Amino acid sequence: MEATTAEQVAAEATNGSQSEGEPLGFSLALTQEQKDIQEWVHGFAEGVMRPAAAEWDEREETPWPVIQEAAKIGLYGFEGLAQFYADETGLGLPLVNEEVFWGDAGIGMAIMGTGLAVASIFGQGTGEQIGEWIPQCFGSESDPAVAAFCASEPDAGSDVSALRTTAKYDEASDEWVINGQKAWATNGGIAKVHVIIASVDRELGSRGHAAFVIPPGTKGCEQGAKVKKHGLRASHTADVHLDDCRVPGSCLLGGKEKLDERLARVREGKSSRSQAAMQTFEASRPTVGAQAIGIARAAYEYALDYAKERKQFGRPIIENQAIAFTLADMKLEIDAARLLVWRASWMGRNQHTFTNAEGSMSKLKAGEVAVWATERAIQVLGGNGYTREYPVERMHRDAKIYTIFEGTSEIQRLVIARAISGMKIR
Ligand SMILES: Cc1cc2nc3c(=O)[nH]c(=O)nc-3n(C[C@H](O)[C@H](O)[C@H](O)COP(=O)(O)OP(=O)(O)OC[C@H]3O[C@@H](n4cnc5c(N)ncnc54)[C@H](O)[C@@H]3O)c2cc1C
Repeated sequence: MEATTAEQVAAEATNGSQSEGEPLGFSLALTQEQKDIQEWVHGFAEGVMRPAAAEWDEREETPWPVIQEAAKIGLYGFEGLAQFYADETGLGLPLVNEEVFWGDAGIGMAIMGTGLAVASIFGQGTGEQIGEWIPQCFGSESDPAVAAFCASEPDAGSDVSALRTTAKYDEASDEWVINGQKAWATNGGIAKVHVIIASVDRELGSRGHAAFVIPPGTKGCEQGAKVKKHGLRASHTADVHLDDCRVPGSCLLGGKEKLDERLARVREGKSSRSQAAMQTFEASRPTVGAQAIGIARAAYEYALDYAKERKQFGRPIIENQAIAFTLADMKLEIDAARLLVWRASWMGRNQHTFTNAEGSMSKLKAGEVAVWATERAIQVLGGNGYTREYPVERMHRDAKIYTIFEGTSEIQRLVIARAISGMKIR
């Protein structure tokens, strides 16, 4: 094999020999349509969400008037979601989520929290179930509703395989009877549609789990205690109690035939579809990462403007390298995290598979950058940053959840470590 010298490589680069062939087709430029959507959502975030942010954070209530506004313009609803999802690059949802959470994270989660239940129905439901339940998750333009996805329990957080909620099939009535207690459910109890993860065979651990839709008004599905939180306070979080909650057989996502087939395979020791489930999680994680980036960017922009205005020792504080370099690092980290989010979003949509847990990488990096950048923003604002008169204090409280939910940072590292090593790291 002929060796390529450094000189040859340099000469090719200088001569631009690659430009003679086909262009490589690599681009990070957004299309006009993507830019238009981004601008449209940004307008809503700036004009409607930001002015309402502090009030709903203090009230710790679901901001229904803002959800109604979002539904009116088509940002919240089945059609809006379908439009964002249709983006073939995979960037539609991350772009929208970044702008919404740039507006405000608490209200953002009140608007986007329904997405968890929708993703579960979309990922596991039959065509008929998707058509029936996803529109109901959102309600209508004039009467919007929210939905909840309930997997976590008091003793099953990171370890979802430990969940105790059970679903038993009653053949005589063709109904499932669900019993258990769910914890930490976003929109739990106030949702029109709840998606519940329950065990149909405890001996099989997570491979014996199935997802059920609980239709609106079903008896035996009640809200438990509402959680008082550190951040995301405009987003409702509560326990959900399921006491002999009976739902029609048709509420099992994917259908009974498919479930029976899967359970039979698992009992025979054959592979289950848990690998496919992992790929689904990997695909949804970048969108969560995009939310964290929205918060981080909002804090960075606020701190940058403040540092140019605030004067100490007779000059703007940004003229001190200590402050300017902090802002430079914030920009650097946020852009780096966004690139990971965009890469994973593209991979999820176009490759339908990941090589090194790129979805987890993106969520992990974005979550940790958001916590760090919002803390740095408080530092740049000094005493003002520590007060509720300035928004970076709220942003810092909101950011922290991104190292906890949708898989903690430790769990993301575990997923990445297993993917890169192929070994059973604990
Ligand atoms: C605001 C909010 C909204 C939420 N919304 C929802 C929702 O809509 N639906 C839903 O189902 N759940 C929801 N959750 C639950 C969330 O997903 C869990 O809190 C999360 O998965 C962590 O579980 P845990 O709180 O039980 O922590 P634990 O699992 O008890 O973890 C505690 C600590 O131990 C670490 N740890 C655990 N296991 C390991 C391990 N093997 N290796 C290393 N470290 C480990 C964790 O990383 C963490 O630092 C929500 C939570 C919050 C706070």
